[in-house]
Amino acid sequence: MKEKLLLHTCCAPCSIYIINQLLDKFDLTVYFFNPNIFPEEEYLQRLSEIKRFCQSRGIDYIEANYQPNEWLNFIRGYENEPEKGFRCSLCFNLRLGKTAEFAKANDFDWFCTTLTMGRQKNSLQVLDAGRKAETKYLVKFYDRDFKKNFGVQVTDWLAKQLGLYRQDYCGCIFSKN
Ligand code: SF4
Repeated sequence: MKEKLLLHTCCAPCSIYIINQLLDKFDLTVYFFNPNIFPEEEYLQRLSEIKRFCQSRGIDYIEANYQPNEWLNFIRGYENEPEKGFRCSLCFNLRLGKTAEFAKANDFDWFCTTLTMGRQKNSLQVLDAGRKAETKYLVKFYDRDFKKNFGVQVTDWLAKQLGLYRQDYCGCIFSKN
């Protein structure tokens, strides 16, 4: 029997190649927890795309509550940080911490994230947040940098083939501005 893995996903285009890879190894559930995304219409559009993809492949998915004010409180004081700065570390800590907490509470063996696929993101920052969450919640972190081995190129190609919506900013109001 395959072990259970909870995959935190940020959006469909970053996720499809990773999902394809993990499905062979794990009993996979997709987890959408992204209170950073602004505005709500954008959040709903990204959510709708990942739901559409999961439904088309028969993959289980869970939508966490959308709580943008919780995210704003969490990064308060660091609004003006540049991308890849400390605000992003906090953002990863919140999202991966909640994912690990949910995984632990619901008997998953592993958790993982698609966040390393993002071009604007520093994979080391993402992996560091995942390892911290692993230590705090005592659930194994599948720590892969999915950008490597042409991951970005393959996922770009797949997203185009499927006609997926592709955003042009990371997610928060500061990255949009
Ligand atoms: S730029 Fe992206 S990773 Fe950084 S704080 Fe904003 S949404 Fe989070």
